[in-house]
Amino acid sequence: MEQAETAQKELLRATQAAKDARSLADEQVRATRRAGRESEKELAQLEANREELAAAVDEGARNRYERLVRSKGDNVVVGVHHGVCGGCHMKLPPQLLVTCQGEKELVGCSNCGRILYYNARHGFGCGGVS
Ligand SMILES: [Zn+2]
Repeated sequence: MEQAETAQKELLRATQAAKDARSLADEQVRATRRAGRESEKELAQLEANREELAAAVDEGARNRYERLVRSKGDNVVVGVHHGVCGGCHMKLPPQLLVTCQGEKELVGCSNCGRILYYNARHGFGCGGVS
């Protein structure tokens, strides 16, 4: 009968261990769901903010930007480094650099079309322009 008693105790221990593991897993599932809900909330908030900010941008510029994002991905507003486009690394025509430095209009790279901005820290580096 002693053997049966030992087996009984062993069974109880195993059952308790299974219950503990189960409740730990349940807690992890709950924590993961909570984190997922918080991320969704955060994403919705960021999307709303983005809409708000995008609405403040000139429509033509916004459409141009969004077209570029669709065709090139995220990196569509690039600095000019030493006279070359920060996106495609092609040398830019001097007139384009002058227009860009003027900061009066949106200037696109003559090769890839990405929107360029003057990078004061790096300069244009093409002599006379920067
Ligand atoms: Zn380019």
